[in-house]
Amino acid sequence: MTGSEECDVTAGPGVLDDDHFHDECGVFGVYGHPDAAATTALGLHALQHRGQGAVGIVTFDGEHFHSHRALGLVGDNFGSAKVIGRLPGDLALGHVRYSTTGDTLLRNVQPLFADFEFGGLTIAHNGNLTNALRVRKALVHRGSIFQSTTDTETIIHLIATSHYSTVVDRLIDAMRQLEGAYSLVAITRQKLIGMRDPHGVRPLVLGRLGGATMLASETCALDIIGADFVRDVEPGEIVIVDHDGLRSIKPFTRAPRRFCIFEYIYFARPDSTMEGLNVYEVRKRIGAELARESPVDADYVVAVPDSGVPAAIGYAEESGIPFELGIIRNHYVGRTFIEPTDRIRHLGVKLKHNANAARLKGKRVILVDDSIVRGTTSVKIVEMVRAAGAAKVHMRISSPPTSHSCFYGIDTPEREQLLAARLDIEGMVRHIGVDSLAYLTMDGLYRAVGEPGRDEEAPQYCDACFSGDYPIRLTDHDEHPVPEQLSLLTEQA
Ligand code: SF4
Repeated sequence: MTGSEECDVTAGPGVLDDDHFHDECGVFGVYGHPDAAATTALGLHALQHRGQGAVGIVTFDGEHFHSHRALGLVGDNFGSAKVIGRLPGDLALGHVRYSTTGDTLLRNVQPLFADFEFGGLTIAHNGNLTNALRVRKALVHRGSIFQSTTDTETIIHLIATSHYSTVVDRLIDAMRQLEGAYSLVAITRQKLIGMRDPHGVRPLVLGRLGGATMLASETCALDIIGADFVRDVEPGEIVIVDHDGLRSIKPFTRAPRRFCIFEYIYFARPDSTMEGLNVYEVRKRIGAELARESPVDADYVVAVPDSGVPAAIGYAEESGIPFELGIIRNHYVGRTFIEPTDRIRHLGVKLKHNANAARLKGKRVILVDDSIVRGTTSVKIVEMVRAAGAAKVHMRISSPPTSHSCFYGIDTPEREQLLAARLDIEGMVRHIGVDSLAYLTMDGLYRAVGEPGRDEEAPQYCDACFSGDYPIRLTDHDEHPVPEQLSLLTEQA
């Protein structure tokens, strides 16, 4: 394999990001396209919102694998013909990764590559394996030597030690030993392979462009290259694309579908379609539900941009109160500062948003945001809107209170840091400094995605960060409530 790695950027833009849960990864794979690397770079560019810490692409040209992995954004690392030219082949796999601090080590950047007795395999995934630490310890005990601290590498070691002969059977064997929420894409010398966990928590879609087949985290990655959306990969399904065409198998025990409902609220790009629902339309319906559930007399509906915009439009349409751009977002913030300290986080909010004082002065404002995590952004935004002269500030949140951490591939703070886990509504009103605060109810959220309400016996989605009802066992977390720092040195000692 030929490869290049770059570590010349000071920091990803994620460090200045606002007070949100963050998706940790996006994946894109292509089979049978003469410009596989360029196509993958474009797909990853469309998925940049799913991870800004690091990016990698691996290609196969019929003889050799080639890779380029780097810290930073897709455009900064794959924008030149020189880099793309070093990645020949019509089979490619790419990955973007979100990362907050020191764990953006280059050795953790996906796709990961390994040489097996059956040939090379490169693998990338979006999600989190909830028993990876336990499995990793057992593997290390048996002599495996890990090169990274990612859970993806656990899959590689399980494939290496599997007794099955074909790569697909080895992959199935590996995934049967692992628990978690994942969408996984792999390429071998002949195949593009995609897989979703049995609950289908994380998204993965199938696309086609001429004779080429693509797998991507979201449909917006197909749109950018003009590919047709074929369908979602189904929960528990493995799709295998090779010179015989596309084959689908479902080797896992069936499990209830529990797609991540937060994808609709915040993670996915609004122009994507997931599980048959357009994300923008869902967000508008969420806003309308919120307006019906929590009306308030006001002059304007104002979104906290950009993520609050579709729900604010939905709220405005339903309530008949005009939507106004009362807050302007600066899109060029993010890459200058390094430390993700609280001090910088607060500064980041001021740099990122500015109040449109001419619109807000003397007005009663309904401020719509998609979620409150620690509350740091909300405090600053409300301060800013009041300083601009707003007479009243009513906050409406287009999700239920985020009172639990996510363990399924989303970067979230510890539960104690979540505002909704610490304070009731009255406490939050005082903390944030608003005149009123209301969240969308769980049933309102389910109605917005076309359900009559939440089925308490068998919830139709994963909503664990609101409900604490985790659909997949949290083996590592239960065994190690305080996250264990994976040190390569101690692991290998
Ligand atoms: Fe999505 Fe929340 Fe479930 Fe995590 S816990 S997968 S963010 S719904």
